[in-house]
Amino acid sequence: MKILRGTSAAPGIARGVVCLYTSSLEDSVPHYSIASGAVQDELKRLRSAFDTARNEMGRMVALAKTRSDSNAADIFTTHLMMLNDKSLIEKAEALVKNQMINAEHAVSDAFDGYIKKYEDAGGHFAELTHDFIDVRNRVLSGFALDSGKFKCEVGERGAVIVASKRLTPSMVLNMEKANVLAFVTREGGITSHAVILARSFGVPVMFGIDVENELDCGMNAVVDASAGKVIVSPDRKTTEYYDKKLENNRKRKLLCDAKKDVYAKLRSGQRVSLKINITTPDEMELVRYMPHDGIGLLRTEFLFINKKQVPTEEEQFAMYSRLLSEAGDKSVTVRLLDLGGDKLPLFIQLKGDPFMEYRGAMAVEAFPELYMSQARALLRANMKGNLRILFPMVSDVGDLKTFKDLIEKASASLKKEGRESFTGNLKCGIMVETPGAVMLVDELLKGSDFINIGSNDLLQYTLAAARGNPLAEKRYHIMHPALLKLLEITAVKAAKSGKEVCLCGEIASFEEFYPLLLETGLKSFSVSPAKFNDIKCELMHRLTSGKKTLQRYYKMPSKAETEKYIEGFLN
Ligand code: PEP
Ligand code: MG
Repeated sequence: MKILRGTSAAPGIARGVVCLYTSSLEDSVPHYSIASGAVQDELKRLRSAFDTARNEMGRMVALAKTRSDSNAADIFTTHLMMLNDKSLIEKAEALVKNQMINAEHAVSDAFDGYIKKYEDAGGHFAELTHDFIDVRNRVLSGFALDSGKFKCEVGERGAVIVASKRLTPSMVLNMEKANVLAFVTREGGITSHAVILARSFGVPVMFGIDVENELDCGMNAVVDASAGKVIVSPDRKTTEYYDKKLENNRKRKLLCDAKKDVYAKLRSGQRVSLKINITTPDEMELVRYMPHDGIGLLRTEFLFINKKQVPTEEEQFAMYSRLLSEAGDKSVTVRLLDLGGDKLPLFIQLKGDPFMEYRGAMAVEAFPELYMSQARALLRANMKGNLRILFPMVSDVGDLKTFKDLIEKASASLKKEGRESFTGNLKCGIMVETPGAVMLVDELLKGSDFINIGSNDLLQYTLAAARGNPLAEKRYHIMHPALLKLLEITAVKAAKSGKEVCLCGEIASFEEFYPLLLETGLKSFSVSPAKFNDIKCELMHRLTSGKKTLQRYYKMPSKAETEKYIEGFLN
């Protein structure tokens, strides 16, 4: 058994046989020089390949329309426009005429220019490269080259886990939904067109998996896109665990599909707040149509981490304005930059001491201008009044004061400049992610409007088990009884104070933990977009959150026993 880690682009679990989908097109494009007398014939071949591709694309648009798949129809219409782009064909023709190269080579080079340009632009543009690759391959297949196929016949016989270096939109649409259990690729992106289409299959989609070196036709595997992993050759225990999960999912899906548009509540009718964690701005696109209760955690590290220059207040203002306006009337809880050893921006690393470890309020004191620009940008962007500011890693009232002073200073400086600062209804909350914060939670609640529990850090600081450190993996027990106890203490105290407490760490994304999580008294959760539907579905099946099992759980002596206990909830 081997576990491969990757990124989930569409949630879910699948178990089955892997089949590689390969396209030898890119390796098999013939390159040769042509004689001057052959140029006209070569141009004819080139135009005819474009014509074939256009006809084929027209057919794809029609096919998408008959399937009432408006996403696919829009994407292929865009591809048709690319094929009709005069500059593209003129560029390829010029290469044939001026460099005297064969038509396939010219097509390949002309497209590669565009692909490189889009790749270099990064972000969403880079994801469009797969569309150009797809259109290029379509033209190349007009020369009767190999346009991609399953590497072995397993893929032709029945439903398989489709594994490929990359997905392209036509690859996805060319496949029968019934024959695909999951898509696993090396390259990809959450908002790439191919992934948007793959998502509409309702199957798990993962990228970032070393397909070429780790997977082969005929291998048994489990794709757990919800947990971001592919398990190759699962052992009996793992297989049984996933079979149970799949059976449960199947039953629940029947009920949940009928209630797709309703907000999260328990079977008893009790409303539960279910929010979404956003880590990259692209994810806002995924949540637009989900019936969620707001963005429970917007991590802002994406604006800073890979930057050599400090982002300006204006850049930040533009990004926050966009995100706050995309959320409509729903609240957006934006966490101030959470610096840490594992997330130190390049512009700080480049300055020197790589071992310096700034956390929470200490970072505000070390980099006052950085935090001031973030606070000012946020206050300016709060035009709709749906912003909530979250202070990371607060452990005592001193930390809280440092952050509150920052917000007050930012507001005062904007006022002094005569600028708008939207603080009227502003709510400020804290991340509870150290045992220290739990011990002092009564005091901290007095000074904050709400609390978010960061169980990822709370767990590592409780168990002396550094996150992501393989040597500490054994001690990093995700549902350790001590963590549950800390959650319970926090939930009970927050309930007494009448303030909201929301669990936004990874444990909130595991549906099997909910029987216990609900017993702690928590009623607000924030999960990744990929897990939203699963968790909502799980909540809809929970009849009550009354205490029954928690006290027994606290007494469990081993990890194995707690795991067995939790597995029991899957039955
Ligand atoms: C956490 O620690 O649980 C949390 C949500 O914050 P992050 O994972 O960004 O550290
Ligand atoms: Mg944290």
